Amino acid sequence: MSNILVINCGSSSIKYALILQDYDYRLYGLAENLGTPQARISGITKDKEKFVVELGLADHEQALSVAMQRISHFKFDAIGHRVVHGGTMTHARLIDDQVIEDIQNISNLAPLHNPANLIGINATMKLYPDLPQVTVFDTAFHQTMPNKAYLYALPRELHQQYGIRRYGFHGTSHAYVSERASTLAGQKNQGGWIVAHLGNGCSTCAVWNGQSLDTSMGLTPLEGVVMGTRSGDVDPSLHYFLNINLGWDLAKIDQVLNKDSGLLGLSGLSNDMRTLVEAAEHGNADAQIAIDVFVYRLAKSMAAMSCALPQLDGLIFTGGIGENSGFIREKVIWALPHFGLSLNAENNATRAQEIRIDDGTGPQIWVIPTDEEGRIANETRHIALGEAVD
Ligand code: ADP
Repeated sequence: MSNILVINCGSSSIKYALILQDYDYRLYGLAENLGTPQARISGITKDKEKFVVELGLADHEQALSVAMQRISHFKFDAIGHRVVHGGTMTHARLIDDQVIEDIQNISNLAPLHNPANLIGINATMKLYPDLPQVTVFDTAFHQTMPNKAYLYALPRELHQQYGIRRYGFHGTSHAYVSERASTLAGQKNQGGWIVAHLGNGCSTCAVWNGQSLDTSMGLTPLEGVVMGTRSGDVDPSLHYFLNINLGWDLAKIDQVLNKDSGLLGLSGLSNDMRTLVEAAEHGNADAQIAIDVFVYRLAKSMAAMSCALPQLDGLIFTGGIGENSGFIREKVIWALPHFGLSLNAENNATRAQEIRIDDGTGPQIWVIPTDEEGRIANETRHIALGEAVD
């Protein structure tokens, strides 16, 4: 088996993970604040020690070459890149000129993310011209959605001419955790599952026999449930209302809905669920409201996902909140009173491990820590090197 470097390039950050087959650990690094005087890179060395290096005013390319020097004592066989928006591309692809052009052509769908992903791809193509490199798209898993799930009720030419439709995101995570849960339940990629990926970004997904049939995010990652700083669904007329009544322009509205809303906007305190749970325990009413809206809207979305499934075998929780907060999981289960769900309290109290947390009387409930890097590495192995992966 091969060693794979996974790269996730954002607008001002780069995450990398070197996934080594012969070791039971990975090398991680994070370069952040790129393009500012605070640019720095931190991570874990091969001796499992933490490091931090200040980078001055480094850009993506300079940060990547520093990162690559730090792992230069390891050989790797291929590179996998996370790309946020793949439009209607259904699978990961080996990078060539056509793939790069295809990603450029859909950059209007993800103007913040795709150009940053391309910077990472171009930089590693320069640094490693002889290594095979693969793009793994966040949207690809959801390309199995039927048109009744992905079409907006808009004039059809907006879809036909401009690609305006629901795409969905977090696909790598939904695919990974639903495959794991179904495998642990006894039949890999069989049955009907509702997944809640609850990190800073949050989304739900209906998975039937290993295929996505619906998901809560849409044309962009703003649609759907309440998130750390994103509003999730609002009345589409809100934009018009805010413009006419408050004089806000589109850039301001976009900023407020993406960066100032969600848990942060509701609580006026934090986008971090841990902070909110603690504040609510100490009687902070705004933190309590933020949690209540988050939980109710999430449960509503999960109930809606059940419409896509011929049969419900179980729920899956993942992402920082889903993996770590038994408190939020319990509230979500209470908010779904018609599904016959029951928790095993002892199992629900555990954190950050694969565990079944229902009491065996109704649909299964699983906590599955997500592993987007591991999944990207496996897809890269498969596409670039032809290796069979489980
Ligand atoms: P990202 O989407 O950036 O990868 P994560 O998946 O790491 O984010 O999730 C971050 C969220 O997980 C934050 O809201 C954080 O508060 C939350 N979280 C982590 N641990 C806990 C915990 N023990 N209880 C509640 N929330 C938690």
